[in-house]
Amino acid sequence: MTITQNRAVPPPRAHYPRTVIARGNPEAWPTMSAASHAVLREIVVNGALPRAELAARLGLSKPSLTRITRSLMDDGFLLEGGTELRGGMGRPSELLHLRPESRRFVGLKLTGDHLYAVVSDLGATVIDAYDEPIVDRSVAAVLEQIRIVVARFDESWGPLTAVGAALAGTVQGSGRGRVVVESAFLEWANVPLVRLLEDATGLPATVDNDVQALTAAEHWFGAGAGLRTMVLLTVGVGIGCGLVINDELVDGAHGTPGRISHLIVDPSGPYCDRGHRGCASSYLTNSSIAGALPRDPAGERTYEYALEQAREGRPSALKAFADAGFALGCLIGTAANLIDPAKVILSGDGLAVYELAEADVWRGIRQTHEEDLERLDVDVQPFDFGEWARGGAVLAIRNAISP
Ligand SMILES: [Zn+2]
Repeated sequence: MTITQNRAVPPPRAHYPRTVIARGNPEAWPTMSAASHAVLREIVVNGALPRAELAARLGLSKPSLTRITRSLMDDGFLLEGGTELRGGMGRPSELLHLRPESRRFVGLKLTGDHLYAVVSDLGATVIDAYDEPIVDRSVAAVLEQIRIVVARFDESWGPLTAVGAALAGTVQGSGRGRVVVESAFLEWANVPLVRLLEDATGLPATVDNDVQALTAAEHWFGAGAGLRTMVLLTVGVGIGCGLVINDELVDGAHGTPGRISHLIVDPSGPYCDRGHRGCASSYLTNSSIAGALPRDPAGERTYEYALEQAREGRPSALKAFADAGFALGCLIGTAANLIDPAKVILSGDGLAVYELAEADVWRGIRQTHEEDLERLDVDVQPFDFGEWARGGAVLAIRNAISP
């Protein structure tokens, strides 16, 4: 997926009429029972399912399932179509399909200097994308930018159901009281972002750390769909780790789960920016890889230059990527030891390390992983920056389908 500037969207106007988003929303999320949420979730995550299988998976009687699906169809979520015969016996079972077009969600990703926004349907398919620079990082200015972007999406795609935002940093609390405790890139501390987003957009809002958002997206709509236990590791400018255990995204007691990037790999190695010697970060982040090499012709150390040098087969650059690959392998093996995942999904803008040093990644895994390597499924997922904003939309979808 790629994110593109949508030229059909008019340029920002400073005084966009608030009435656009304050109007009634006929497609707002209806009140529904836990069982209805469970049925909808099964179909959102797994695709079309036969009635008989749905009833069996969720332990619902036939009359209960009929009642629930009728109401979900009335609300526009589901559609009946086709039949499927399973196991060659019994009567064919009617398939229930999702109507992804029935609801639309806004996903946001905030960096220190840019706002990325998408509209997605209920199946997390992005149908519109827009981005613009953040010039003023003050909370009020960013909220005003978001209000205008969401209002324009509403005009093009409305009514919208909910909004979800992802950002690097620590997020804590529940519901309307959820707070961005700190976000270094935005220089924010203790910002009650859910409440502010709801007030600005008129939509139910949810907020989470960006790696959590990406993990949520992989868990329901990506390589982890249907898995009850998985790890997502992202490599690039930073190293992220998201965990799913027993079908739930782990959010920790203080909003900081999955901190694995400073695991010591070689106590005689280089120093990381926190002063550890030979931790995974000291080898693996884009800036660590760049820092292990001489300066480029312009006198700078850049990741792009390191990548170019490695692709040309320069030994010093290949060594830097090999060390990074080994560190990544140690992280994969350690994360797998900790939760015994069905899959370790690898993504991020630094995936070239896997491409250039796959053998070293597996050397690191073999050194750390304590179980049969046959059981370890490492799934490398290509990454596009637009995935972060889509992750924001997935947060909104998951929040809507949670009892
Ligand atoms: Zn460190």
